[in-house]
Amino acid sequence: MKRNIIIVGSGPSGYTAALYAARANLNPLLFEGSQPGGQLTITTDVENYPGFPDGVMGPELMDKFKNQALRFGTEIKNKKIDKVDFSSDNLRLWSGSEEFSAHSVIISTGASARLLGLESEKKLMGYGVSACATCDAFFFKDKKVFVVGGGDSAMEEAIFLTKFASSVTIIHRRDSFRASKIMQDKALNNDKIDVMWNSSVLDMIGEPEDGGLKSLLIENVLENKTFEVDADGLFLGIGHTPNSEIFKDSINLDDKGYILTYNNSTETSKKGVFAAGDIMDPIYRQAITAAGSGCMAALDAERFLENLHI
Ligand SMILES: Cc1cc2nc3c(=O)[nH]c(=O)nc-3n(C[C@H](O)[C@H](O)[C@H](O)COP(=O)(O)OP(=O)(O)OC[C@H]3O[C@@H](n4cnc5c(N)ncnc54)[C@H](O)[C@@H]3O)c2cc1C
Repeated sequence: MKRNIIIVGSGPSGYTAALYAARANLNPLLFEGSQPGGQLTITTDVENYPGFPDGVMGPELMDKFKNQALRFGTEIKNKKIDKVDFSSDNLRLWSGSEEFSAHSVIISTGASARLLGLESEKKLMGYGVSACATCDAFFFKDKKVFVVGGGDSAMEEAIFLTKFASSVTIIHRRDSFRASKIMQDKALNNDKIDVMWNSSVLDMIGEPEDGGLKSLLIENVLENKTFEVDADGLFLGIGHTPNSEIFKDSINLDDKGYILTYNNSTETSKKGVFAAGDIMDPIYRQAITAAGSGCMAALDAERFLENLHI
């Protein structure tokens, strides 16, 4: 059966698109992918999503998104899309060997924060470890925090954190930053920011049930020395990877892999294919902006389908 709308991804943008499409009687089919609920499921308190004056846990917020989309008849598959073919107006998508087709597709596959890949990092994410200063800096008032990275994202995170933290130390594995000169200068001229050059994080120490992150095990790669430092917070500022690999031959991406949208809308370079959330937004990357563009994508798709007269 050819669907009106297929939505790929189950973060704030995917579920918001589903909610709007379902309430427009378009019977959307949504693929959850390998991270049902998206990025907010790996965090704890979310204090900046409007409508929750006391804050809400990330996973609980995403359950609410899901239930609201289900209430109006969204069909949800706990599968991921592996391949697409958008070469004709019949938009084709595959999950394994199973084929699906649709008149319109909304891509909401997000961008994953790059992590160091340590077991302790997974355990302490949301408990002192974060990948988003805009989201979590507020929890670190007068605390001692660290930022990993050497590019513009790390500088931005570090500068933003100085508004809250008592000290911010950037940990960087080389002896110079890759960040633009202007961002480096801003960071290095900030009294609250220090740099640990030629250093990398070997481990994060602490337990979620015991106050979270307590210290970091650091290696000085030049001197081959390891040492431990007390830490209240660690922010990963090593960038994001947009989850756009399977779309790269079908629609236009920017040089970093974010989907390009046109006409102040969620339209992509292929008619009938729309993009919403972090996958098309390298700038704001928030749940509320993702949800907002998910709404826009559903309205854009609705108008597109109306003009098809199906
Ligand atoms: C640790 C952390 C804490 C954060 N805290 C906050 C906060 O407090 N407040 C805030 O506003 N924002 C916060 N953010 C940012 C926020 O989570 C993101 O901006 C938001 O989740 C983006 O939503 P999205 O819909 O674009 O996609 P994501 O949430 O990134 O979800 C992407 C979805 O796409 C699916 N997917 C990917 N590839 C495929 C595929 N091939 N097939 C099917 N599905 C696929 C995934 O399974 C996932 O469900 C935080 C982020 C992180 C990492």
